[in-house]
Amino acid sequence: VNEPGDHALEGYRGDAQLWLAANFRLRAADEPFYAPGAAHYTADYLARQRPLQQILHEGGYAGITWPREYGGQGLTPAHERVFREAAAAYALPDLGTLGGATYHVCFPTMLAHGQPEFLRVHGPRALAGDELWCQFFSEPGAGSDLAAVSTSARPCDEGWIISGAKVWTSGAALADYALCLARTDSAAEKHRGLTWFAVPTRAPGVTIRTIRQTDGTEQFCQETLDDVVVPDDHRIGGLNDGWTVTQTMLIFERDSGIFKDRVDLAPGDLPQALVRLARRLHLDTDPEVRDLIAQVHVYDYVQKQLASRVEAMVPSAVPAAAMAAYGKLAKGTFDPIKARIAMSIAGAAAVAWPPDDELGWQISKSYLNSRIFSIAGGTNEMQRNAIGERVLGLPRR
Ligand SMILES: Cc1cc2nc3c(=O)[nH]c(=O)nc-3n(C[C@H](O)[C@H](O)[C@H](O)COP(=O)(O)OP(=O)(O)OC[C@H]3O[C@@H](n4cnc5c(N)ncnc54)[C@H](O)[C@@H]3O)c2cc1C
Repeated sequence: VNEPGDHALEGYRGDAQLWLAANFRLRAADEPFYAPGAAHYTADYLARQRPLQQILHEGGYAGITWPREYGGQGLTPAHERVFREAAAAYALPDLGTLGGATYHVCFPTMLAHGQPEFLRVHGPRALAGDELWCQFFSEPGAGSDLAAVSTSARPCDEGWIISGAKVWTSGAALADYALCLARTDSAAEKHRGLTWFAVPTRAPGVTIRTIRQTDGTEQFCQETLDDVVVPDDHRIGGLNDGWTVTQTMLIFERDSGIFKDRVDLAPGDLPQALVRLARRLHLDTDPEVRDLIAQVHVYDYVQKQLASRVEAMVPSAVPAAAMAAYGKLAKGTFDPIKARIAMSIAGAAAVAWPPDDELGWQISKSYLNSRIFSIAGGTNEMQRNAIGERVLGLPRR
């Protein structure tokens, strides 16, 4: 698709603004983009959000950069950015972690490697909110070392029979489909002999159990796959070429949610919560506390700047893995620092709080969750390895 001129983009922005005003409500000034915490993402909550996604799809604003034959609009990343800007003030569908996995990780990967007949059926369903996806890659014995995956897929008359165990799957209990990595040639070297498959989460033989987390929610899941049969058009990428698909997926995984913020000086959720907290604790005139809140805001801004500069350097649909590692490592590094600062201001207020006090919970939760980006989708150490080996040319360990 040709890059649009400024005039065309401004026309697109104007149409989007009119359409948004007619179809979605504005968010309240202090209303976050997402529900506050995993506990809110129940089957009922998602059932209320899915029709909103359908409206977005019918309006032509879902899958803006996806090919038209797979339900998208076939437009450019510039159109996508313009729509994001126009939509920032509105309460768009909130499909949580599953929305992120579906639209920013699984489908971008499948658009690059999936079979056309599969994408023609499942692309429109996903864009309409009828199909939400999760990722079955980690296993009890394969995390950072993904090539150690031992879930197997063997050919049968109907396609493939998949057996094994997966773990740490975000949101699987509420997902409709999973993208699953399996070993298709056990004799091959471990990076070879792997293949990706699309697996319906309610297929016979799939058992999903939730895992209780430190914040009391049960968003993580572990699965057993017991002779699950999928047709061959559910194979994503070439047979035994799963490592290539994995590299694509990890790039999108590392990008997702990192390149989506606008670079502006608007304070994020955490600094705003800290200002409210400091007022309540009568610490808002304390110079040290003011300085700490400013630090959290500055870290947010630096992260956005870094993400925007990396994005500008990698304009193609599939940025290089090592470049994506910068944004991921920045988030994995800054989130724990910001969370520690927040805890140091909050003190006991983030250890115990009255039941109707969202603020103590918000600070405490951001602390408990601050390690997410330093682990999920590849740990900080793995990002440093990628930068060290692929950008700096250091020898592999
Ligand atoms: C919030 C969250 C969501 C997740 N969602 C999903 C999901 O939806 N689907 C899914 O399949 N998985 C998911 N995961 C799992 C995640 O991908 C793994 O936890 C991650 O890849 C690390 O694997 P591991 O836990 O087995 O740790 P390990 O690989 O055992 O690593 C343990 C430690 O050793 C270090 N280490 C390992 N190898 C090296 C090396 N070569 N060089 C230097 N250091 C090394 C690691 O950095 C880490 O500190 C999620 C995890 C989290 C925290």
